[in-house]
Order: sequence, then C-alpha cells, then structure tokens
Amino acid sequence: MINKSNKKTPIPEQKPDKRIKNFLEVSLGYDEKMAISEAQRCLNCKHQPCIKACPVNVKIPEFIELLSKGEFKAAYEKVCETNSLPGICGRVCPQETQCEDLCVRNIKGESVSIGRLERFVSDWYLKNVKNEKIIIQEKNNTKIAIIGSGPASLVCAGDLAKLGYDVSVFEAFHIPGGVLMYGIPEFRLPKSLVQKEIDKIKNLGVNIKTNMVIGKTLNIEDLKEEGYKAIFIGTGAGLPKLLNIPGENLNGVYFSNEFLARINLMKAYDFPNVDTPVKIGSRVAVLGGGNVAMDSARSAKRLGADKVYILYRRTEKEMPARAEEIEHAKEEGIEFKYLISPVRIIGSDKGSVSGIENIKMKLGEPDSSGRRRPIAIENSEYIIDIDTIVSAIGQNPNKLVTSTTKDLKTEAWGGITVYEDSGLTSKEGVFAGGDAVTGAATVILAMGAGKKSAVAIDKYIKTCKN
Ligand code: FAD
Ligand code: SF4
Repeated sequence: MINKSNKKTPIPEQKPDKRIKNFLEVSLGYDEKMAISEAQRCLNCKHQPCIKACPVNVKIPEFIELLSKGEFKAAYEKVCETNSLPGICGRVCPQETQCEDLCVRNIKGESVSIGRLERFVSDWYLKNVKNEKIIIQEKNNTKIAIIGSGPASLVCAGDLAKLGYDVSVFEAFHIPGGVLMYGIPEFRLPKSLVQKEIDKIKNLGVNIKTNMVIGKTLNIEDLKEEGYKAIFIGTGAGLPKLLNIPGENLNGVYFSNEFLARINLMKAYDFPNVDTPVKIGSRVAVLGGGNVAMDSARSAKRLGADKVYILYRRTEKEMPARAEEIEHAKEEGIEFKYLISPVRIIGSDKGSVSGIENIKMKLGEPDSSGRRRPIAIENSEYIIDIDTIVSAIGQNPNKLVTSTTKDLKTEAWGGITVYEDSGLTSKEGVFAGGDAVTGAATVILAMGAGKKSAVAIDKYIKTCKN
C-alpha cells in the first residue's frame, strides 16, 4: 500500500520550553504505526537514486519495504549489511543533502524520511532483540592496529574483525567513540546508544585500548615492531582553529571542543553530582555557523545562559549546519546575528571577557568553497556585551601522529595525504581516513572511508602473504 501524502510523517519532539531545561534527546522518534505509515510513502523506485547518494550505499528501498510490512528485525539486518552504526546515522547524518535530497518523492513534495526510519529500526532492534546471535570469525592471526576510535576507526575495525583479523584500537581518551562521545551533545545523540553500537563492534572481537596516545605512549614504528601488519589512522580533526584576534586568551573564552567535551565526556551538565563544572556566564556569544556552533549554543542555553548569540560572517543561506539544527536552535531562543565578524575580545580589569567588538560584513563573489565571500564594511565596528565566548570556527587535524611518523606525507593544512580509492598513505602498510584526511566533515563520510580502507587493508595483507 502506498501512502500518498506529500509530507513526511511528523516526528514527536520535546517542546522547546521544556527541553532547554534538560539534556535529554530532543527528538523522541517514531512509534511503530508512524514508522509503517512513513515507510509506505516509499515508491520502491527501480533506479534507486537514494542508494547512490548514500556514502555507505544502504539498501534503502529494501529496508523500507521490510519495515512497511512490520518486519522490523529483518529491516534492521538489511541496513546493517552496509552500515554498522545505523542508530547514530539515523540521528546525525545530513540526509537532506544525501539520500533524501535525491529521493524521488522530493520532486513533488517532501522526501521519504529515510533517516528517521533508519533510526526507528535501530532503536526497535536495540530495545527488542536481547539475545543477538553474534558470529565471530575464526581469527587468522594477523594483527591490525587502528588509531583513534571515532566512526572511521570503528567501522574499519568492525569490518576487519568480521574478516577474521585480530584488531586492536588505540584511543587517546579514556572513553572510545571520538566526536560521537565527546562532541555531539546528549540531546542529539544519547551516549548510551553510542555505547551500545560500540559494544556491538567489541562483540565482534575488537580489542579497544583506551588512554593510549599514539605519538606519545607508543608510535607507529613501535606498533609495527609489536607485529601489527597494517595500521589505520583515524585520529580525526580535533585541533581548534585560532581566531587570531586580541583578547583570545581572556578568561571566559572557550574553544568548542573543550567546551563540549567538558559537557559530554565529563558530564558538566550533571554538576554537582559530577565534580567537573563548566563555568558559564549569562550572555554567551558562539562564533561560527556549523553543527558545532549550534551544539555549543544550545548547550550554553541548557546550562542556564539567559542570552545566547550565534555570530556568523555570512547569512543563513551559507550556514553549513543542518537545517534541522538551525531550526531547533531558533525554537530554543538562540539569537542569530548574520554578516558580522569579531575583531577584538574586550576584557574586564579582572582579565575576564566583558564584550566582543565586531565588524559588519557584506557578501562578495563566491570563494573556493562555492559560498559568497564575506567582505568587511569599513568603519562599521560595534560592541556586544557578553561574558562568555565559544569559538566554533573550525578544526584541523592534530599533528601528534604525523609529526612522529617518518615518511608520512601530509597536506600543507595538516591532513594526511592518501590515495582516494584505498586510504593508503605514503607509508607502507599505513592507511588513513575520516577527518584526519578530509578535515572536519561528517560521520557518514568518515564511516565510508573506514569501510574503504578495511577492504584495502584486507587486499594488502593478502597480497603481502602471497
Ligand atoms: P573523530 O570522531 O574525531 O575521532 C577521532 C578519535 O581519535 C578521537 O576519539 C580522538 O581522541 C582519537 N585520537 C586523536 N589523536 C589520537 C592519538 N594520537 N592517539 C590515539 N587516539 C587519538 N557530523 C555529522 O555527520 N552530523 C552531525 O550532526 C555532526 N555534528 C557534529 C557536532 C560536533 C560538535 C562535532 C565536533 C562534529 C560533528 N560532526 C557531525 C562531524 C563528525 O562528528 C566527524 O566528521 C566525525 O566524527 C569524524 O570521524 P573520525 O572517525 O574521522 O574522527
Ligand atoms: Fe523510496 Fe525515495 Fe528511494 Fe524512491 S528514492 S526508493 S521513494 S526512498
């Protein structure tokens, strides 16, 4: 049966006035009836454009068809054929620019809500299937090391374990998961869900070693000496870009990853039950226009700030954040100030932030990113009184691994140079993928890179042995 509605089935959400007082998930997910009704909007198109637009090629029409018949377990298993983190992707993937963008339903109305359906099957499975049958491959006694435990690494590790490799993941933090754990807030991506998806990968036999900073505790040569036959670097892009304006070192200026890690990883929102507070004033300015900026602003609001501004140098049209996140931020009372760029942070006599001086901008011709270039308007400076700043203007890869590894080529901006089809680096037996290669990007692109490198590593090992 086809559901002819041109609109997506709405998803229940916590109301804005309630949700700004807690860190619980905003979106509550479909129930079975809603999920089936939404699944019945899929036309099961022959040429399947949605699959081509998915970086891990989830068999979208097939899983949706199973879902529409109420076969939830089979639908979940279909998704998992190519996607090992479905509950995460269903929540944070930018579907609107990928599978849903090319969905045929988009032509005369709204696309099928593929992401929400993916989330539904994953949540249903985790809630209802208690005794999952785990098939552990017989080990082939070949050791593979994976550095970092974000989505690129988790997918690479899981896929290699399924092929029988003896996989060890080396993670610098005390908790695995990368940005999924320390960056994206609880109200968008519950950490208990991320942990369950990590546990599934551990159950495949992957050994995750935390508090292991590669480049300090051990380096790549040490790993090779320990018998690891191939190495995958998935260390992400955790180094904040500096603002390079006066006042950057004042008290009350945070970089987004420090701010969000204190909240997510150290659970600052649960102070005083945990003893790691994050100090926040009443007037907060968040600099930037991506998901990181939205997450920082919405977290600041939930921590009790009265006024939270997003300051962005272009307009909403050029904002890289997901449309849904911008909408949610607005509903929560975040105030957006467009075409404005900070030039100086002003301090009080106690060395704390008391204001930010900005210059107005206008848009010129498109730059290399394809977005119109912001140009400063002379003598248009003005000050906004604030007491906290969160800088979310972008991140680059950390140099710890690259600077301690001989013969590992990098790009001028710090990304690891790889062959696109395999993730192979300039160093024999060493592969890389995710944000460490592309710079800050998306979960699904990192997963796609991890998947590609797992195939290439398997091929490399088999070729080496021959
Ligand atoms: P990461 O997730 O960064 O993981 C890298 C891991 O490597 C980390 O655990 C790190 O501790 C570890 N590591 C680093 N150096 C070392 C070392 N020397 N030794 C050992 N371990 C090391 N993407 C989306 O698709 N949708 C979103 O809504 C979205 N929102 C985001 C919100 C925030 C706040 C942030 C920061 C990012 C967001 N992203 C989003 C981007 C997405 O999370 C990243 O693109 C993705 O996590 C990259 O995966 P990765 O595996 O390459 O690296
Ligand atoms: Fe279904 Fe849309 Fe994919 Fe067609 S393009 S199969 S309608 S999800």
